[in-house]
Amino acid sequence: MTGDPENPEREAVAAFLDDTVARLRDWLAIPSVGVDPAHRADMDASARLLADTLRADGWPDVRVWDEGPALPAVYACLPAADPDAPTVLVYAHHDVQPAGPLDRWDHPPFAGTLVGDELFGRGASDDKGQVAMHLLGVRAHLAAIGARQPAVTIKLLVEGEEETGSPNLGRLVDDHAADLAADLVVFSDTPVYAREAPTVCTGQRGVYAAEVTFVGGQSDVHSGRAGGSVPNPVTGLARLVAALHDDRGRVRIEGFYDDVVEPTAAERADYAALPFDDDTWLANSGGARGLAGEEGWSTLERVWVRPTAEVNGFHGGYTGAGVMTIVPARASVKLSFRLVPDQRPEHVAEALRRFVAAHTPAGLHAEVVDVGDGVPPYAVDVAHPAVKALHEAMETAFDQPVRFSRTGGSGPAAVLRARLGVPVVYLGATLPDDRIHAPNERVVVSQLGRGAEAAAHLWRLLAERLP
Ligand SMILES: [Zn+2]
Repeated sequence: MTGDPENPEREAVAAFLDDTVARLRDWLAIPSVGVDPAHRADMDASARLLADTLRADGWPDVRVWDEGPALPAVYACLPAADPDAPTVLVYAHHDVQPAGPLDRWDHPPFAGTLVGDELFGRGASDDKGQVAMHLLGVRAHLAAIGARQPAVTIKLLVEGEEETGSPNLGRLVDDHAADLAADLVVFSDTPVYAREAPTVCTGQRGVYAAEVTFVGGQSDVHSGRAGGSVPNPVTGLARLVAALHDDRGRVRIEGFYDDVVEPTAAERADYAALPFDDDTWLANSGGARGLAGEEGWSTLERVWVRPTAEVNGFHGGYTGAGVMTIVPARASVKLSFRLVPDQRPEHVAEALRRFVAAHTPAGLHAEVVDVGDGVPPYAVDVAHPAVKALHEAMETAFDQPVRFSRTGGSGPAAVLRARLGVPVVYLGATLPDDRIHAPNERVVVSQLGRGAEAAAHLWRLLAERLP
């Protein structure tokens, strides 16, 4: 990137990029694995390092929130010079997934290894890289406007429990409602669609999971003694699983689609215009041998804007070596449902219970147990002025047309929307092939630079556009 008098944000990003990478490498060296209690001290060290970095950058109000059961979160506020300027809250997280099989990493997972334009390490993309992107974006914004205070008040919430499903985020937000009050949340934990097709993410699916168990007798029984005279729980549960979908791939649970909001024609046109290749999709989908799904929807639509019912595991009866002639006493299936706006996990939970009751054979007892609270889906209102500003900021930073996309995964955007009562938009610059949650996670440094530039443009634009 060279000096560009028309784009001082880009010039400033280029000036600070090496320093940003050096800091990120130090941060990646701290194994802040939130799910593993053995790494509790590393979570503290990770939060402290981020807080120290923010203070070094001149953020006047920086705090580590580590009271209560939640793993440490970092809060910071950099007020605008104009007290009437809008306030934006950036959400991200500093906890990371475990490294997984170490022998499958080409570089140490907790070192931060720079190879050309790629920085390798657990958390490089998900999500420390996107936090580093924002710190760079704020520095570039201040340099571009030649001020020590930003055009909008910028707040930062970097939580420590995203990879464990953000169990305490709602309480954290409620406990610090005054500190976190904002006009807009910028959620930074999603990728763009592809390096050659940068996008603004406009939604994430939700999720609801449950385990269904059919119980027959108190113990397994000899199939010669009783087989043919009592119901088999595995057979009953197989019938229930078979009844989950019709021949067109639609979920047959009554009421399942009642709250589903269909995408607009403009959204569908945007998705259809994105580069897409079946073979690449299949290769990136565990090497699946063919596509499947709900009739009438493209692959991207099936993953982004349609809900699913998935069997995650099915167990029952004898599965060891040789033969054991029994009628099993019980069988269970683990189910999960990806949800789209405006489905609610609690409504799907009720619909599933009615479906199970209707499909429980005589002589069997059914149990349905929710696994976790579920995560509601979230979609952005694309007509909101903040989305228009974000889109413009992305097009300027990426030097090309930017379309809308979504992701099929889940995150706490709906929690932030509900607790803070303000819109949430997604600003992310990482790539879908960054291998997050897998060995050799990396972030592409030039993508972080583009994302930081987009953020720097956004802060300037929001000062003009947000009421
Ligand atoms: Zn993440």
